[in-house]
Amino acid sequence: MGSGAAHVGAGSLVERVRALRAAAVALVADRTPLDAGDAALVHRELRVVADMVGLVSARAITVVEEDGRWALSGARTVAEHVAQQEGVSVGTVRREVQLSKALGADLPVTQAAVAAGEITLEHAHVLARIAPTSAARREALAGGHEDRNEAALVEQARTTTVDQFRKTASRWATQVDAEAADRDHTLIAAREHLFLTPRDGGVAVNGFLTVEHGAALTTALRAVTGVPAADDDRTPQARQAEALVGLARLTLDRGLAGGGSQVRPHLSVHVPWNTFRALADDARTTADGTNAAAPVSLLPAELDSGEPLAPTLLARIACDSEITRIVFGPSGQVLDVGRAQRTYTGQLRRAVVARDRCCQFPGCHAPPALGEIHHVQPWSRSGPTSVANGILLCWHHHDLVHQRHLRIAPRATGGWEFARVDGSVLTDQRHGSMLKTTGPPGHAPVPPGHAAVPPGRTAPQGRVTAPSRPAPTGPPGRRAGPAISESPRPKVATYETSR
Ligand SMILES: [Zn+2]
Ligand SMILES: [Zn+2]
Repeated sequence: MGSGAAHVGAGSLVERVRALRAAAVALVADRTPLDAGDAALVHRELRVVADMVGLVSARAITVVEEDGRWALSGARTVAEHVAQQEGVSVGTVRREVQLSKALGADLPVTQAAVAAGEITLEHAHVLARIAPTSAARREALAGGHEDRNEAALVEQARTTTVDQFRKTASRWATQVDAEAADRDHTLIAAREHLFLTPRDGGVAVNGFLTVEHGAALTTALRAVTGVPAADDDRTPQARQAEALVGLARLTLDRGLAGGGSQVRPHLSVHVPWNTFRALADDARTTADGTNAAAPVSLLPAELDSGEPLAPTLLARIACDSEITRIVFGPSGQVLDVGRAQRTYTGQLRRAVVARDRCCQFPGCHAPPALGEIHHVQPWSRSGPTSVANGILLCWHHHDLVHQRHLRIAPRATGGWEFARVDGSVLTDQRHGSMLKTTGPPGHAPVPPGHAAVPPGRTAPQGRVTAPSRPAPTGPPGRRAGPAISESPRPKVATYETSR
């Protein structure tokens, strides 16, 4: 400490705090290189210091609150007032006020343990939030039962991390006052909400669930997330987001959400005729490897809501969907409605699934229920809807194939080869080797009967676009068989404006 400066160990509290700040300024300015052993020690010690400082800070905020003059600022709570004064978040100050009150009124042992550096301030925050929350719990804290009083909880805190301790404290709270636990649950359940808000060209998801509902959702998400495949550069969060949409698709694909088994579109996409035709041109240019920009000045395809769709997304949707051609007159009147035609339904779909068994992208094992049938030669480019021209891809990889214009070709040895636009072949990175067989390890070899249908190559060229099978006129029946959706696919409505 510099000569003449106040000492942290002497003077009034205000003088000591000023001296502490001066010491902190000197610490921050110290750029001496640290060795790893010292760094760990420094980190631990500073955490203890910060916790101790936090105790003093909490004590101060109680005095500010009790004084009451904060109300003159127009703030509704002391937390709001302090947040305004110091520029911190209201939530942080509110937590500090809660801690301060709990330590002062009900948690003296906890306070002493933090002061002695035996438990962290975070442990104290957990107790402040959970422990003194009902008369029965306060009584238990102060009581003589050595297995459930405050001293017992602090003893647990000494030996467990905060994350573990949070569960310990919750269990304790339920045990000593089950009635309050029920009330808490009711309050928490009442706070459940889910907001889907259009924002930044997407939809923001924001919500709150009870522990139980959160666990159900987490388990379901994990079930549809699967193992990352080769070239899967998504973050776990991105995979989780897609899994949520996967759950929604599963429900819709299987017709699980009531309304009988009538054909109901999940998603209507309106595609101007020229844009629909351009899908073919786009496929052709990229197949040449020129990667030419998509034709400009075409009207984008739209959802019912008028939200425009990116061209590669449209190509993906059109790949496995129900197509209805509706011709509109110049003032929007419907001139003609074609019959709905669906791609890869019934036996065709089952045959592709029976041959491929799981997503065929290198390294992906996603089951058929999470997938779609992709036209190897694009549907819009006269690719037939045949078993030979179909490949099972999970939703994510179906997206990816269209987004990156990946080219898929059958291998002489069976299975498929995926290549990028530059011609390089995708490999299963998890195994560090080129995929030479039909699928991942453990994947059954293609039965001879199925292998007799060489994928892709036999597709007749230049045929007029049309799915090979008309749609069933009645509602599709529920049939047992491979787990793949037979209920409505996304619907693409094409329309034409006569000018
Ligand atoms: Zn496709
Ligand atoms: Zn996949």
